[in-house]
Amino acid sequence: MKTLLTSLVLAFIAPLFILAQTKPPEQHIDSLIASMTLEEKAGQLSQFSGGWTNMSTNSTVTAEQRAMVKEGKVGSFLNVFGSEITRELQRIAVEDSRMRIPLLYGFDVIHGFRTTFPIPLAEASSWDPEAVEKAERTAAVEAAAAGIHWTFAPMLDIARDPRWGRIAESSGEDPYLGSAMARARVKGFQGENGLADNAVLACAKHFAAYGAAEGGREYNTVDISERSLRETYLPPFKAALDAGAVTFMSSFNEIAGVPSTGNRALLTGILRDEWGFKGFVVSDWTSIPEMRAHGIVATDEEAGALAVTAGTDMDMVGGVYLQYLPALVREGRIPVQTVDEAVRRVLRVKFRLGLFENPYRYCDAEKERSLIYTDATRAAARAMARRSIVLLKNGKNVLPLNKDIRTIALIGPLSDDRDNPLGPWAQAGRPSDVVTVLEGIKAAAAHSCKVIYARGCGITDSLPAKDFYESVRAAKQADVVIMVLGESLNMSGEAGSRSNLDLPGNQENLLEAVCAVGKPVVLVLMNGRPLTLPWAADHCDAIVESWFLGVQSGNAIADVLFGEYNPSGKLPVSFPRTVGQVPVYYNHKNTGRPTNDSNRFTSKYIDVPNTPLYPFGYGLSYTTFSYKDLALSSKKITADGSVSVTVNVTNSGHRDGEEVVQLYIRDVAGSVTRPVKELRGFKKISLKAGETKRVEFALEPDDLAIWNREMKWAVEPGSFRVFVGTNSADNLEDGFEVVQRH
Ligand code: BGC
Repeated sequence: MKTLLTSLVLAFIAPLFILAQTKPPEQHIDSLIASMTLEEKAGQLSQFSGGWTNMSTNSTVTAEQRAMVKEGKVGSFLNVFGSEITRELQRIAVEDSRMRIPLLYGFDVIHGFRTTFPIPLAEASSWDPEAVEKAERTAAVEAAAAGIHWTFAPMLDIARDPRWGRIAESSGEDPYLGSAMARARVKGFQGENGLADNAVLACAKHFAAYGAAEGGREYNTVDISERSLRETYLPPFKAALDAGAVTFMSSFNEIAGVPSTGNRALLTGILRDEWGFKGFVVSDWTSIPEMRAHGIVATDEEAGALAVTAGTDMDMVGGVYLQYLPALVREGRIPVQTVDEAVRRVLRVKFRLGLFENPYRYCDAEKERSLIYTDATRAAARAMARRSIVLLKNGKNVLPLNKDIRTIALIGPLSDDRDNPLGPWAQAGRPSDVVTVLEGIKAAAAHSCKVIYARGCGITDSLPAKDFYESVRAAKQADVVIMVLGESLNMSGEAGSRSNLDLPGNQENLLEAVCAVGKPVVLVLMNGRPLTLPWAADHCDAIVESWFLGVQSGNAIADVLFGEYNPSGKLPVSFPRTVGQVPVYYNHKNTGRPTNDSNRFTSKYIDVPNTPLYPFGYGLSYTTFSYKDLALSSKKITADGSVSVTVNVTNSGHRDGEEVVQLYIRDVAGSVTRPVKELRGFKKISLKAGETKRVEFALEPDDLAIWNREMKWAVEPGSFRVFVGTNSADNLEDGFEVVQRH
């Protein structure tokens, strides 16, 4: 009876609170929370999904879900977009539900929305945070025009294991580059200061260390030290937070026995108490009930209690909060304040987005018509795509192709493929928008150039190849052969772990058969991870790593092949020689017995060198760059001091080009062991043929600090080495000392 009475009173007074739009947000939020039932509170903390077909969203919302909105049982939807459907559901929420709280629409805008951009690993290969920020701004404007408030990006997991398919969504192996990309992406989605017009809320995910899954196997156990968590896996998240990321997503994995979604030390201790995060945390898809399978709770109810107490504010798709939070509070198993605090965090975000002022802000059919997939978005995608390409080899300068070339053979299963260049997580992308390599080359080549196309084989065909007759015949007739080989989009991304990193199926056999013809062969790769390519590296004349470049793939690849754009990308991740070397990353420790060819008892394999096939930071250009005159402003500094590092970089070739100048350091002896090199600066510069530029970096205390033996960030006295160069392996070197202050 008491509950019925309370509900009746609440039903009467609640709308009055909501109408009091003039109140400052905090007061307004307090009023709302004071009037909400426990069920409505649980509803605000619950997110449900619209429909899917074939890995793409179809935005279908069931009658039952509509009824749930009316009953205040949904705080947010994902996988629902389009001005019409978002407006319709929003209308139910703000007109028909008792509390009239607007819905928040989330979606995975991972690399572009309808205008699909290169996968994040590719964008990171540009080493160009400004370009990446622009790309995300374009994506945000498109997504916002389709009614989306919130993207589940950026993905900030450091990924050092190419077997893990989600490396495709990452910025690679390095925390410094990863942090630069994190800042750029957050600013791109949300805008620089506060929330921009057409802002889409960022979500820093997956918090944390998801990329350290054992064996690179998806969703697998993570067991890392707090030190590697702090030094390697957390920095991009801290960078995203400092750039203003409004939300975080907890990761599927456990760390040392505790699943992130129920990890209070992580979600509250580090994220809120230590870092001061003020936004809200969403679980990953059903990661709350999955804590049962992890073996940390026995029931869904316990999972809900563990998650909300840890600091997971919103339940993505699990349905656990909706079902159990009210009873958990009523039974005194969790304090109502814990739920209220989570609700407050979610409502604050809805306020910040202006949804209480105008719940239909993002449901604008006109914007949807005019801002999505335009000439401008296509041009932006092409610009980003060509900056994302990495030239791995260019023997005898076979590239760029001469525009007068008479016959090109274009061979391979990805040469005229419209589906796969979109890459994983292109849920609003359309294959029909994709420019294939065949189309790109035909558009770029002279009219007189004949392009002979042969598919050769399928991506994963495992039947023994007959004789690749058609491909060999095409190669024989050509002046140059371009082979487009690689992976299908589903071989990377979520649940795309592989135990083998070779070109899939029969493709290497096809490559061998075509190379045997003896014509110059340019291998163009499409893939979502580093592959093992020792044979190709030895036998192809040129190798172009294009990753998955999105809708403008063919045009961007043709721009590079014909020299319309001089490639400037650098690898954000090392390429192993063989899968057995994995994980292989440049910023490894030295060990007590660093590898030494003449001593068996050193840290190495007996059958392969320790070095990768292509190191982190590596990438060629059609011109060459030389480095000279490395100089440090000071050879001795105190722990709060800084050093300026300068170097002269010359374009020593015959074409204008861009170079990514990279600065690494090594702390020679710390209170804990240090990596052999750590990236601490990079600058992408343009140089005309023959031009020299003096490039300057500042090494500040933050760049020199380590997570020391006392588990604190500190700059420790001692020697530092400084390396500057064109990649992580090829550097000029100098050094300085950090001395005690007297
Ligand atoms: C993924 C997240 C994604 C979510 C929503 C999960 O399976 O791990 O990265 O944001 O689904 O689509």
